[in-house]
Amino acid sequence: MTAAPSTPEIPTTTLNNGVVMPMIGYGVFLTPPEETERAVREAIEVGYRSIDTAQAYRNEEGVGAAVVGCGVPREELFLTTKIWFSNAGEATAARSIDASLRRLGTDYVDLLLVHQPFGDYYGTYRAMEAALQAGRARAIGVSNFFPDRFVDLAENVDVAPAVNQMETHVFNQQVASRPWYSKYGTALESWGPLAQGRKGIFTHPVLTAIGQAHGKTAAQVALRYLLQRDVIIIPKSVHRDRMIANLDVLDVVLTEEEMAAIAALDEATPLTANHYDPEFALGLMERYALPKD
Ligand code: NDP
Repeated sequence: MTAAPSTPEIPTTTLNNGVVMPMIGYGVFLTPPEETERAVREAIEVGYRSIDTAQAYRNEEGVGAAVVGCGVPREELFLTTKIWFSNAGEATAARSIDASLRRLGTDYVDLLLVHQPFGDYYGTYRAMEAALQAGRARAIGVSNFFPDRFVDLAENVDVAPAVNQMETHVFNQQVASRPWYSKYGTALESWGPLAQGRKGIFTHPVLTAIGQAHGKTAAQVALRYLLQRDVIIIPKSVHRDRMIANLDVLDVVLTEEEMAAIAALDEATPLTANHYDPEFALGLMERYALPKD
């Protein structure tokens, strides 16, 4: 078993409602339910304090079991979950928030997101505003809201989203969309910060060469780049050594030249989830509908 070198001091950001959020968290998309408790417990052991799950990942129970059993006080952890479109609409979303909290073994989450801009997400958002009022969520926001839907929502709700969690990595850097989120004080959180391993990111020549200059891997350079652009990251790995490596990005500062070389890798196109593409949107809605909570 690889030990963590030392528990790192993870930088934080202050969201638009004053809530403090770690800049590095740990994601559990595609982590099998039966493996989730072990993975999250190890992630907490090696120093992660922020965990990102979702109703659609079907592993909230595993996250909850790890959180309850890990020995770290709940208030030192930052838990995010997301409401799936099958639970869209005010009454259904409200019930699903109760169900998520039960599965997570807690009476509040730190961040609650609309997972996808499909279905009655206005109703979902109203349920989330009520959860915020009731202290069942400390902050609320959205995910996968491209700028047009984002602006529409942000203009027509009472509480501006604290976060928009978007596919963001060196190949899709969200440069053009970001000012639209910033307009409402909304922080950009990256999902897929390692491009989900696509496009040869782990052996990419530009990232590898920069890494060699700093004693880091291409993966660490990709993560560090996002941090230096003030993007919140939540890399996922079920392997302890990778969990540690993905946190070990704080003792390096990329130069302006290196930042520019990585900025040039941006293709400004989603690799997997283009919500502007009706075929993608319909496919997601058809294939990933889940039973309502
Ligand atoms: P990531 O970009 O974090 O990549 C994860 C993949 O990279 C896994 O296959 C993992 O494998 C591998 N990996 C991780 N670290 C390393 C490393 N240091 N070296 C080599 N391989 C590595 O993709 P995710 O899709 O998981 O995104 C991160 C998180 O974002 C998710 O877990 C989830 O919480 C969230 N998310 C949100 C979405 C949304 O719609 N809001 C969509 C997708 C993700 P292994 O586990 O075997 O190590």
